[in-house]
Amino acid sequence: MRIPKSHPRYESLIRREKLVRAWKAGIVVPEGLIAHGRGEAFDYLLGEETTAPALVAEKAAAAFLVRAKRPVISVNGNVAALASSEVARLAKRLPAVVEVNLFHRSDARVRRIVRIMRDAGAPTVLGLRPDATIPHLESKRALAHRRGIYRADVVLVPLEDGDRTEALVRMGKTVISIDLNPLSRTSRMASVPIVDEVRRALPTVEKFVRELQADPDETARICTEYDRRGNLAAVYSFLEWRLGVLARRPKAKPRATRNRRARR
Ligand code: ATP
Ligand code: MG
Repeated sequence: MRIPKSHPRYESLIRREKLVRAWKAGIVVPEGLIAHGRGEAFDYLLGEETTAPALVAEKAAAAFLVRAKRPVISVNGNVAALASSEVARLAKRLPAVVEVNLFHRSDARVRRIVRIMRDAGAPTVLGLRPDATIPHLESKRALAHRRGIYRADVVLVPLEDGDRTEALVRMGKTVISIDLNPLSRTSRMASVPIVDEVRRALPTVEKFVRELQADPDETARICTEYDRRGNLAAVYSFLEWRLGVLARRPKAKPRATRNRRARR
């Protein structure tokens, strides 16, 4: 389908199209399409823009990534379909290892996603031969690489499941999440929850990484002063404020009336 650029929801339709194409190519699973819908609903509530609290979290994430000794970016099907070049750019900049990690794991799908990430330019991509398991998680979801997530000190997990986020935090890692749902277990468990859309969040984190790589004092200050609870509270307050503004807005006139007026 050709989506006209003038469509008011052009960006959103393009993202859906990308995901459907990735599903046909065996990169995204149907469950991933449902998860995307949940994210879109929250993006509506947030105004489809990076909020001020998200910006604070993105800067904090950059600071922890810059200071990390073994940073890893975890990638699943949706992330590969929507933001492979953004992930690759951040991985190169840090540098960080990319590890493909799938909730609904099959070797064929891991192989396809590894290829996407390599083609996008990520310097090191793991996922094919996991040699470790994350404690407190069952079955294939626990699989990890010793050189990757298993021994990482800081893990960036875009669009991650709550259980896995919690298991990584329990291993003592600094877990940075990107999830549009501020109420998800992921957002509530992560050390640095970023409540923003993945394609908006990643380039912003990368921009802050570039700035902070040249400023170790500022990086250290941010790592000490970042307050995850305060930041998440600011996200909830933002939502409350936005809904309040919408509630006070005068009622929209019915479309027919508006059009008749415009023609006069
Ligand atoms: P949890 O297990 O953390 O309580 P969940 O079960 O909803 O939450 P998943 O089903 O794994 O988590 O889905 C991942 C989450 O990613 C979705 O809930 C959604 O909010 C979020 N999400 C989906 N698409 C995007 C996107 N493009 N950018 C950011 N977040 C997204
Ligand atoms: Mg879940």
